[in-house]
Amino acid sequence: MILIHSERFAEHQTPPGHPERSERAEVMDVVAARWKARGVEVVAPRAATREQLARVHESDYLRRISETTGRSVALDPDTYTSPESHEIALLAAGATVDAVERVMAGSQKTALAMVRPPGHHAERNRAMGFCLYNNVAVGAAHARAQGAGKVAIVDYDVHHGNGTQHLFDADPHVLYISTHQYPYYPGTGAAEEVGRGPGQGFTVNLPLEVGAVDEDYRAVFDSVVSPVLRQFEPDLIMISAGFDAHERDPLAGMRLTTPSFGAMTMALRKVAEECCRGRVVAVTEGGYDLQALAASLDSTIEALSGPVADPRWPSSGIASSRGRDTIALTKRALTAFWRLA
Ligand SMILES: [Zn+2]
Repeated sequence: MILIHSERFAEHQTPPGHPERSERAEVMDVVAARWKARGVEVVAPRAATREQLARVHESDYLRRISETTGRSVALDPDTYTSPESHEIALLAAGATVDAVERVMAGSQKTALAMVRPPGHHAERNRAMGFCLYNNVAVGAAHARAQGAGKVAIVDYDVHHGNGTQHLFDADPHVLYISTHQYPYYPGTGAAEEVGRGPGQGFTVNLPLEVGAVDEDYRAVFDSVVSPVLRQFEPDLIMISAGFDAHERDPLAGMRLTTPSFGAMTMALRKVAEECCRGRVVAVTEGGYDLQALAASLDSTIEALSGPVADPRWPSSGIASSRGRDTIALTKRALTAFWRLA
């Protein structure tokens, strides 16, 4: 496993009280140092190139973001730049490209791009939800350009990744699977959104009611996420690893405990072992409680760096039918595309 991280990620500043604050990068610094001391290789990213970004973003948008260099700008009601933000966002997208290159070349089985700002809300021509460039999408497009036939993106951030879905919703070579609180920001992610044109069936949404617990996530992974991935047979699995479905998170209302992040990651490693020589690239997204962020990163890195094993799901001891309800909705929407028991 390799960790791709830069202490420069703290240079992207947001206004006082903003949840995507630079202290998140300092947590990542501590986590990176801890795993480096345990023998995990940690490397600094290169900046993404214009060509790499232009696979998913419009040239006019790239020009608009680059023009924020040296300035503090509100791009939307949630999304801000500071003078260094453009340069830092290039490093976040570049870290994802680096992770993809190393894993696709076979020098590493798994990689984590531990970055900020996050990316999955960024659209082709629009910054939103704290995101400037869509890091995971830039990485998936790079994997495709380097010869990967099929890429799967699994997004367990508590928010729906509207940007990632829209960038690939007509593309049958990139499967997008998302678990998220619903209804919630950004509003997209209904089970009936299954992709369009040749991409129909290659968008899989698992909208969960607020309050979902460990067992609900385990149910949707066992009944939908893993079976769909096995049938899709990707050449690479990417993870939009957001930690804001944690019970401590101040933004959202899910109740996941820390070990679930390792369990979800391990469940994906198991499928990757079967269909793509274990190739998994994770990219951080949200996660706004600093203590939960550190613990969830540790759980995820432990799952990415150790041997492949059965996922160890925690038990909340709370009865919930949210997972079952979601599985029923998603199965109904996707019955024409995937065999789901
Ligand atoms: Zn989020």
